[in-house]
Order: sequence, then structure tokens, then C-alpha cells
Amino acid sequence: MRGLLKAILRRPLLALVLTWPTLAGATTHPGSSEFDRIHRQVVSAIDDTLHMDASIIPYEMLDRKEFVKKARTDLAIGVEVNGPLLYDRVYFDLSSSGPHDPHVWAHEFIHYLARMFNRDAIKPPAHKMLEGITEYFAFQVIPGHPNPRHPYYGYLRFAEAIAAKIGGDKLRSIFFSNQAHQYSALRRAVVPNDPPRFDLACEVLVRGDYATAVAMLDRNDSVKPTGLLHFR
Ligand SMILES: [Zn+2]
Repeated sequence: MRGLLKAILRRPLLALVLTWPTLAGATTHPGSSEFDRIHRQVVSAIDDTLHMDASIIPYEMLDRKEFVKKARTDLAIGVEVNGPLLYDRVYFDLSSSGPHDPHVWAHEFIHYLARMFNRDAIKPPAHKMLEGITEYFAFQVIPGHPNPRHPYYGYLRFAEAIAAKIGGDKLRSIFFSNQAHQYSALRRAVVPNDPPRFDLACEVLVRGDYATAVAMLDRNDSVKPTGLLHFR
């Protein structure tokens, strides 16, 4: 009898325990199962193609207000529409389409996996080249057809030219080495006799003259950039 009483008395506690996961679930963002599915897909694809463990990457979904607040504080460097914090985690802007797009996940996770290179190259004039290389690897992870109207299209073509010149494996080893000074290593690899020319090509890229930027990767003094305000 005492056993039955005990069981009855325990029942409210049991109910609480049983409903606990539901209560906990209610605090997560609606649709998180979609994000879990994309997360698994992208982690698996990065493992298959780049042989890197993206499951360790911390990420967080923020609403627009929180995201902008972050962007103005500790995320000042490296935040994009769905930007990564280059130093400790990737944040997604829930008000954008990014969290629903595996390619965007791949792009941001690649930023994270190459965070030492990002630190070197996040500043102008290298920042658009950095986006191009990030897209180059994102398309390896999540294959697709680049949209010529996408703002990063020319940057991607520039990255493809770099890969063609030094080899995809070399580009990958420099980009993901996570050692210091890898931007300098890339400059030397691409234009061994005249590394500053690489900076200049990046600057031409920033100005949107992709064809000239690509041509400048081959040492050829007859190729002159157009529309540059200054040379460095
Ligand atoms: Zn990016």
C-alpha cells in the first residue's frame, strides 16, 4: 500500500520529467529541425570533400535585432549578411534566407575553418579575393551553378584563376593551414617574382574589373589596370 502511495505521489514528478523535453523544445527556434538537417548535410559534405571536421564549429541563430547588435560590437570584423564571427563562432541572421541555404552554411563554415587566413585577408584590398576563395571551396562542398549576377561571381572567377595557376591542392593547403602569414604565402605562390602585384590585382578585383585582375596574376607588364585611384 505504501508502495502504491509512493507511486501516486511520484506521478506529478514523472509527468514533469516526461514533459521536460517538450518544454525545453519550446524555447528553441521554430523550424530548428530544418536547421539541424542542413547542419548535418553540410558537416557531412565538408568531411567528404575537404576532410575537415565542421561538427566542432559553434553556431547560433539570431533574430535581426540581436544580429545587428552583435555586428556592431564584438563581431565588427567579419560579419556579413549571414556572417561568421571569425574568432569563435558563426552567427546566422534569421531574417535572411541564409539559414535555409546549405551553400550559405558551407560558405560561413569555410570562413571559420580558414579563420587564420581570414584574419590576414579580411582587410582591403584582399577581402573580396577572400570571399572568392571561400566561394570556390563552398562550391566544392555544395556543388551548384554560380549565378553570374551574384555579387561574388567575379571574385569566384578570380579564385578559380588562382587555383589554376598554383593548383587546387596548394591553394587549399595555404588557405586552411591555420598558421600565421598565409596571405603573404599566397602572394608569393601566385606571383613569386612580384608579390605586390597580387595586392594590385586584388584592388582591381575590388573595383569590379575581373578580367584585368585575372590577367594581372600572370606577370605581364603590358596588362595595365584601369580605373585605379592609386597604386600601392
Ligand atoms: Zn563570406
